[in-house]
Amino acid sequence: MALAASRLAKEPWQCELAVWLACRDPSIFGLGVVGFDLDDLGWDASCIERERAFLLAVLQSALRHEGWSLLTYAPPPELTEDNLRKLRRLLVDYVLPPTPGARAWAWQEQAPASFTPCARCGVYLHIAGCVVCNAT
Ligand SMILES: [Zn+2]
Repeated sequence: MALAASRLAKEPWQCELAVWLACRDPSIFGLGVVGFDLDDLGWDASCIERERAFLLAVLQSALRHEGWSLLTYAPPPELTEDNLRKLRRLLVDYVLPPTPGARAWAWQEQAPASFTPCARCGVYLHIAGCVVCNAT
């Protein structure tokens, strides 16, 4: 998903999402960081449908395995695709809790100072480097 979000991101919220997804990096932040709750995203109530549409495009890109040639491992397609489809169903039905304006992102550690794509693979870097190629 970090690969897909990084490739598709054009707007600030989309770049933040790409970094936030990259932060689900168990090789840096330890076990238990991969899963997340949709409430943890920095949704903005005023444009949630645009944000939802972007995340749906990210999921579709991931389901098409776009960019997966950059991965140093082969995700098990059955498990990965099943989870992506489950997340897509959750996202379609997701109702933002009643919070006006933009919500804060639930960062793993801290938000990076800037949103910078990896020079090697183009995936947005988290505070410790790249989730895909481990460049710093
Ligand atoms: Zn990289």
